[in-house]
Amino acid sequence: MMATADTPLSQQNIVAFLGDIFERRGGEEYLGEPVTMAQHMLQSASFAEAAEEPDIIVVAALLHDIGHFTSEFGMFSMQDTEDKYHEEAGATVLQRFFPELVTDCVRYHVAAKRYLCATDAEYFGKLSAASVHSLNLQGGPMSAAEVADFAKNANLQAILRVRRYDDAGKLADFETKTFSHYAPLIQQVVDDHHHAGS
Ligand code: FE
Repeated sequence: MMATADTPLSQQNIVAFLGDIFERRGGEEYLGEPVTMAQHMLQSASFAEAAEEPDIIVVAALLHDIGHFTSEFGMFSMQDTEDKYHEEAGATVLQRFFPELVTDCVRYHVAAKRYLCATDAEYFGKLSAASVHSLNLQGGPMSAAEVADFAKNANLQAILRVRRYDDAGKLADFETKTFSHYAPLIQQVVDDHHHAGS
């Protein structure tokens, strides 16, 4: 059952709702990259899967850029694809249904890039041109104080791994599984979170 004005988002329809966004809007361009938004997110998930990550991390990688579609969730958005705050918006729309590990990976995926640029000499050299460009808009590499503060997050390692799957998921002509492959994983993460009683 799709969520509509009459049937609000719920544990039962959130996965179909997300799948519908991938279906209808996934073909939108990922500015400056040779992939669509859906290809990018599916590639990120596939790299997490290939690394034998737990389902929860695969789901975080799959949904990390969902904040580019905040208008779908009824949130104000100037223009989704240029939303400078998509990482915060993404975490906000997901937090009702997903655990903090997922929302932290989403919320901090831009900060993770700034962190890695400050702490890993090789990392910057591997960024795409578009990612280097946005890095400057995002504040550049973290300062030592910002690095120390960011490192306090209990989910730091997961956040950094998802960031690397994000960076990897920008390949032209790379076949992935479709959203439907991930739907049961997402539902399981949602159901586990619900049963955890939050
Ligand atoms: Fe991304």
